[in-house]
Amino acid sequence: MAQRVESFDLGTLGLTSGEGRALEFAVPVDELRFGGETYATGGDADITLDVSHTTTGYALRLRFAVDLHGPCTRCLEDADARVEVDAREVDQPGGDDELRSPYIDGSELDLRSWARDALALTLPTQILCTADCRGLCARCGANLNEDPDHAHEPELDPRWAKLSELKLD
Ligand SMILES: [Zn+2]
Ligand SMILES: [Zn+2]
Repeated sequence: MAQRVESFDLGTLGLTSGEGRALEFAVPVDELRFGGETYATGGDADITLDVSHTTTGYALRLRFAVDLHGPCTRCLEDADARVEVDAREVDQPGGDDELRSPYIDGSELDLRSWARDALALTLPTQILCTADCRGLCARCGANLNEDPDHAHEPELDPRWAKLSELKLD
């Protein structure tokens, strides 16, 4: 079992310039707000952290996968989406090409914040129950996966059609 941490002090590795290390941790990943809905993340993510000591700082790579669970973007039924995160950060204080990471304070790396932001940046544009989800009927809201062939009476007055479009925006 990987150690459960929210942050990690890179200084404890005692790396010198040019040295690197691969580490495994369990990092809590908060539930996610996306498109007005809430998605569960399964709690802790097993992360791999690659640390390289550069001349004046660190180059970091964070990798993990999260199984999101929440409403389908199209039909609102339960949906699961696996999101694979692969993010990089460089922290290089001092010198001409100074580059600071917002997740490093001194040598303390805020893994929880980095994992949260990296996940948000990796999200797919839609979270779907199935890749070919038909969504909801624009006229009556019926789930078209369950009832793909249902029919409506032809609209009598085009103004009503306009109204129902507005309501669904
Ligand atoms: Zn769906
Ligand atoms: Zn309908």
